[in-house]
Amino acid sequence: MPQLGFGVWQIPDDEAEQAVTTALEAGYRSIDTAAAYGNEEGTGKALGASGIAREDLFVTTKLWNSDQGYDSTLRAFDTSLAKLGLDYVDLYLIHWPMPDNDTYVDTYKAFEKLLADGRVKTIGVSNFLPEHLDRLIEATSVIPAVNQIELHPHLQQLALREYHAEQGIATEAWSPLGQGKGLLEVPAIVAIAQKHGRTPAQIVLRWHIQLGNVVIPKSVTPSRIKENIEVFDFSLDTEDIAAISALNEDRRIGPDPATLH
Ligand code: NAD
Repeated sequence: MPQLGFGVWQIPDDEAEQAVTTALEAGYRSIDTAAAYGNEEGTGKALGASGIAREDLFVTTKLWNSDQGYDSTLRAFDTSLAKLGLDYVDLYLIHWPMPDNDTYVDTYKAFEKLLADGRVKTIGVSNFLPEHLDRLIEATSVIPAVNQIELHPHLQQLALREYHAEQGIATEAWSPLGQGKGLLEVPAIVAIAQKHGRTPAQIVLRWHIQLGNVVIPKSVTPSRIKENIEVFDFSLDTEDIAAISALNEDRRIGPDPATLH
């Protein structure tokens, strides 16, 4: 799985083809979409038209909450695959645990079937807390490859990252730039950007990369799409990492997975 990919949340279906095409031209090979984003078709069009060999692409999509359950998952997967115009996806994620519904174990058993049938290459989850992962690991046979969680300098998820490391689960950061809201103007980040002659977004993405997180920044602006992948030709030093790590406030932008239902 590439450590840096392109996220397409909130990109309308009719703009997704252009945005994903721009990302592929800039060198991205991993694309993160979801049934709930309503842009699997536009995303699929860009993938199909790109001329890039299928094995060089890494496509993630997610099962939406209302489709949880064994049979409904299999049906929803067929719909996603048809919209994407693909024969398989590289990573399929349960979008949210929805603990009150109590269906994520059955849902994941359908994921294991899709994996056994070769229709998905890897399976994982999103927004799972340790208690949900514990239950899943206890009740099923394949440890999730990935947990995609909200993670940025204001919400660093130290305990969950440690848990993932113990279980061998990759940590994938959603909203890695904190949705751009204020985070990119934080003086400590701006100062590090000036020191390296880079942009604040590049500094935040580089911080994730050095921590070992998978990142999927989103933009529809071609110059930013390009800027966000140009983070592999410089390094932050220990002092920079420490200054960004000091910004943790355990502050979420999105919903709390424990209470979303
Ligand atoms: P993000 O942190 O990637 O921020 C995106 C926003 O930051 C852009 O809309 C833009 O306003 C700004 N931005 C981007 N690049 C910039 C740059 N170079 N300079 C200045 N500003 C810049 O936020 P996101 O879109 O919420 O998250 C990324 C991806 O994560 C999504 O597209 C989606 O694929 C995924 N995601 C998953 C979940 C989930 O529940 N699994 C939830 C939210 C997002």
